[in-house]
Amino acid sequence: MDKAKQEKKFMRMAIALSQQNVEKGLGGPFGAVIVKDGKVLARSANRVTTTNDPTAHAEVAVIRLASKKLKSFDLTGCEIYTSCEPCPMCLGAIYWSRISKVYYANTKDDAAAIGFDDKFIYNELDLQPDDRKLPATQLLREEAIKTFEHWQESESKIQY
Ligand SMILES: [Zn+2]
Repeated sequence: MDKAKQEKKFMRMAIALSQQNVEKGLGGPFGAVIVKDGKVLARSANRVTTTNDPTAHAEVAVIRLASKKLKSFDLTGCEIYTSCEPCPMCLGAIYWSRISKVYYANTKDDAAAIGFDDKFIYNELDLQPDDRKLPATQLLREEAIKTFEHWQESESKIQY
């Protein structure tokens, strides 16, 4: 199968996961698949409402499964197929996981049109902490910074 056909096959899996989630009432209309070397490593739909986990977006859920399967926090070389453009949290998770490529189907504007509006988070990210809607106050940096210094000096740390 050529690459373009394969890409569509994996995206259709992600879309099917999103569709099944809606049909079975298991959560939001989102699905994601992680692929490595042309093979499916893990797949998940959104699990926010079934697990009462606000971070259980399809992308985060599938990253957890793939990392567990690979026994690694580093997903370099993996590709993620997600039925919708990742929200800021998922995009952050994708960067942290070092996934090498993102394929998406629906856009964030499509998601906003059905009530999943993450645009306000993107807007918040551009603001200084004091200007955000979420109140944030800095406290006790002089105490917390000591742990950072310990980390910096630690011989046993695993850099990631
Ligand atoms: Zn997300």
